[in-house]
Amino acid sequence: MDPEIPFVSIVEMGLIRDVSVRRDGVTVKMTPTFSGCPALHAIKADIANCIRDLGVENVKVETVLDPPWTSDWISDLARDKLKQFGLAPPPRHGGRIELIFYDTVVCPYCDSQNTNLKNDFGPTLCRAICYCNDCQQPFEQFKAL
Ligand SMILES: [Zn+2]
Repeated sequence: MDPEIPFVSIVEMGLIRDVSVRRDGVTVKMTPTFSGCPALHAIKADIANCIRDLGVENVKVETVLDPPWTSDWISDLARDKLKQFGLAPPPRHGGRIELIFYDTVVCPYCDSQNTNLKNDFGPTLCRAICYCNDCQQPFEQFKAL
């Protein structure tokens, strides 16, 4: 088996709110998936470094927390990539998030709905651990937010 990890960009994840390019520099506004996301500092530094690599010296990366990030902003392309990676993508909820907590999680490996939630918290706060009763694969779900 050759597990190829797909690259999911922060743009595809819906983290970028605004980019303003001026004569004197570039400002990027981004919304983290969780305000307490431990990767936030690294993500902001990566954004700034990528833009500096393009030859821009003055780069500002600002965090926007209102409105909060929602998993509905994850693009279809990113949802496909998460699934390829073995992470069940979060269902779209259109703001009615309370309804989807009772939805079945579809297995990213065999598309079975015969799955169980094993643990609300996976290796990170934004992931839950599930188990597929058909292909007997444990997998993680990117939680809806
Ligand atoms: Zn399965």
